[in-house]
Amino acid sequence: MNNTPSRIRASVRALHPYVPGEQPKIPGLVKLNTNENPYPPTPAVRSVLDGLCIDDLRRYPDPDATGVRERLAALHGCDAGNVFVANGSDEALRLCIDAFCEPDGSVGYVEPSYSLYPVLADIRGVERRPVDFWPDLAWRMPRNYAASVFFLTNPNAPTGTLFAKDDVRRFCEDFPGVVVIDEAYADFAGVSCDDLALSLPNVLVCRTLSKAYSLAGLRLGWLVGSAELIGAVTAIKDSYNADRIAQAVACAALDDPEWMRANVARIRATRDRLVADLRGRGWSVTDSATNFLWARPPAGFSAGDVFRALRERAVLVRHWDAPRLRDFLRITVGTDAEVARLLTALDDAASV
Ligand code: PMP
Repeated sequence: MNNTPSRIRASVRALHPYVPGEQPKIPGLVKLNTNENPYPPTPAVRSVLDGLCIDDLRRYPDPDATGVRERLAALHGCDAGNVFVANGSDEALRLCIDAFCEPDGSVGYVEPSYSLYPVLADIRGVERRPVDFWPDLAWRMPRNYAASVFFLTNPNAPTGTLFAKDDVRRFCEDFPGVVVIDEAYADFAGVSCDDLALSLPNVLVCRTLSKAYSLAGLRLGWLVGSAELIGAVTAIKDSYNADRIAQAVACAALDDPEWMRANVARIRATRDRLVADLRGRGWSVTDSATNFLWARPPAGFSAGDVFRALRERAVLVRHWDAPRLRDFLRITVGTDAEVARLLTALDDAASV
């Protein structure tokens, strides 16, 4: 028997870590499993990287990410003091718990939504307070609901559904804690609650360059909100959480919003065709405001079997073998050619 007390915190020992989507190296793979953008970032990124002065890498980056924050402030119509720049939005979400949740506090979120939130709560050993939006995914916040921090994914993931701004506003106005509206996919929806974050004292909006700006490999996200909340998160960040290369590339990407918007328009057009094609094959597909679909195969087909059949045909989508989620697939919208390969693989699998 080993009686040595563990050196690892109990909540870390008990943790079921977040499981990111696979990044396999399968030749010719059609990768539709992690909601990445199928199109490259603006060509201005290439110029920034070509012009990088390697010697500058000896120096620490600007701890305040001034250039990025100024551009983001212009984007949201606020001051740089209303913007926090993070090493990907995942870092921003984690810091929100550290800044706003006492050890005896609680973390709320919609169920189903981004599966990182309960893991972040578990890491800190704080109570989870999920709100059940099954089965129809309609807005259903209970009266007098409270938590220290509430993560509201809008548009939601993995369902792709958009919550109406009036519902969100009413909820935020009554909610005693901090609401973090995770808008990772908002560029695809074309609507944002950044105005709520800039007018209500308890609301932050969280955004990212990972999806619409095609820069998931860069790791740059941000928060927008009152100077008070932004100041709290800033006070606990790592000094150099956004590196030199990320800051330079982010500035170039933010200076070319037209490029991002053109890619978003292409993805939305492909998405709408894919929805029709899947429905035509008997799938039930939730209306999506994002770059992915939440889809259920026709009766007689299990989502898990379809996932495996697609994988054998080098098409990767996302499937969670968890209660309630297991009947669905989450399919990232790729290029037209990738979506054609998906449909061919589906038809091939169905005919076997
Ligand atoms: N929020 C949601 C809802 C997401 O789906 C993701 C991507 N997995 C993130 C945040 C994280 O994005 P980032 O790459 O900026 O960390």
